[in-house]
Amino acid sequence: MPETILNYINGQWRASAATEFVEVTNPATGERLARTPLSPPSEVDAAARAAAAAFPAWRATPAGDRIQPMFKLKFLLEEHFDDLARIITLENGKTFGEAQGEMRRAIENVEVACGIPMMMQGDVLEDVARGIDEYMIRQPVGVCATIAPFNFPGMIPFWFLPYALACGNTYVVKPSERVPLTMKKIFELLAQAGFPPGVVNMVNGGAETTNAVLDHPLIKAITFVGSTNIARHVYARASAHGKRVQAQGGAKNPTIILPDADLDMATKIVADSAFGCAGQRCLATSLVFTVGEARKSFTEAITDAAASRVTGFGLNSGVQMGPVISPASKTRIEALIEKGVQEGAQALVDGRGKQVTGYEGGSFVHPTVLSGLQPQGEIICTEIFGPVLGLVHLNTVEEALALINGGQYGNMACLFTSSGAAARQFRSEAEVGNVGINIGVAAPMAYFPFSGWKDSFFGILHGQGKHAVEFFTQTKVIVERWPQEWSRQF
Ligand code: NAD
Repeated sequence: MPETILNYINGQWRASAATEFVEVTNPATGERLARTPLSPPSEVDAAARAAAAAFPAWRATPAGDRIQPMFKLKFLLEEHFDDLARIITLENGKTFGEAQGEMRRAIENVEVACGIPMMMQGDVLEDVARGIDEYMIRQPVGVCATIAPFNFPGMIPFWFLPYALACGNTYVVKPSERVPLTMKKIFELLAQAGFPPGVVNMVNGGAETTNAVLDHPLIKAITFVGSTNIARHVYARASAHGKRVQAQGGAKNPTIILPDADLDMATKIVADSAFGCAGQRCLATSLVFTVGEARKSFTEAITDAAASRVTGFGLNSGVQMGPVISPASKTRIEALIEKGVQEGAQALVDGRGKQVTGYEGGSFVHPTVLSGLQPQGEIICTEIFGPVLGLVHLNTVEEALALINGGQYGNMACLFTSSGAAARQFRSEAEVGNVGINIGVAAPMAYFPFSGWKDSFFGILHGQGKHAVEFFTQTKVIVERWPQEWSRQF
């Protein structure tokens, strides 16, 4: 019997009273690793109450003291870096190198949050009127929560959690029920880092558990990352309760290749973007718009790159791409490739129906390249979230920009060129929140906001850096006069 994941509430590991469970499997083998309890609302309530009880003492702890457990956490994460990456590969499927990259980005956010004593400072203006001073201070919001997706089980909660804790908030994390083992390990480290009981809590579960978080009156702020339909639901439901919400949704990220691009570099980078993490990245390139003469050479080069990519179990050396998350996901991706072919696309490389020797139980879809997509067809519009790259051939940058700006999503768009003028126009006119110029995965560093526009984001303030500090604090403005002193002076 595989282990049942525990919840972590008020500094204690607790078995859930759940009666339903989700099986957690290694997507490369189909082997059962654990089961996630679908925790009932009463367990969200216990976590929210523990976090609310811990809040007064934690917010009164000086910022310089609050970051001490954060420094300890940074060193614990470094010490267990490879263990964590290994767990990510086992439950999510991405390669060990990709999992290490994920944990590096998580740790960067811990490092940035250690600067909170400067980042959460307010503003002061003396003498706004005679003898009157005015100042703004930032105070924590209260109990906050994160609801996470399956594709970055280690990194995504760290876009929010370190900033929230350092600002003096207390926390509840609801990991993806499909990949709970990484957060379980991280909570073992959080437990050693020295945060007081109740400051950080974890409740495992699915939709019902999420909804209990969204509805709970003690939880004041919600961060969500996942698919667009659920992001929309989370934003509407939590904000109807008056909570502050940031909800990151899905994506369909285009990359433009101009004829003056460095083709070798562009091919390598676009292949890594499209097929890295088996295309299960919200910043994966899923469409390439080749302009003019870039068409022939790029099509040939990317076809070779896709066909030669080594797919397999992510812990094996030499493997460049792992499986997709589940058999259901594989079925869905293969059905979408078929839909594209029926719409008239040509499968230049077809990753369907292929197995990896020795891993016959795995959910592998090999890299796929589709050419000649229909402008309003399924493959141009739908987020596939698999290793499928669609090619569209155009004559001008303006046509490409029109396609980008007419799209539903606005997470990322990239341009490959050696022209500064083309890059400048693109940067200015692309209606997306993250832009790459000769970059394939334009992921903002921890000290920049992870932007996202249109149906890729609901809210105003994004995760990471200064935006996170603003999201996890509320401003208070004080206007102050001391009459005796004032009357003496004037
Ligand atoms: P998902 O939307 O299925 O699940 C995300 C979370 O929502 C999980 O914790 C899940 O338990 C919960 N959930 C699922 N259905 C629910 C429902 N009906 N009601 C309430 N809660 C529910 O997403 P996923 O498949 O885990 O992750 C992949 C998606 O996440 C992709 O669309 C990807 O683009 C997106 N994503 C976006 C970003 C970004 O920065 N914009 C980053 C990573 C992933």
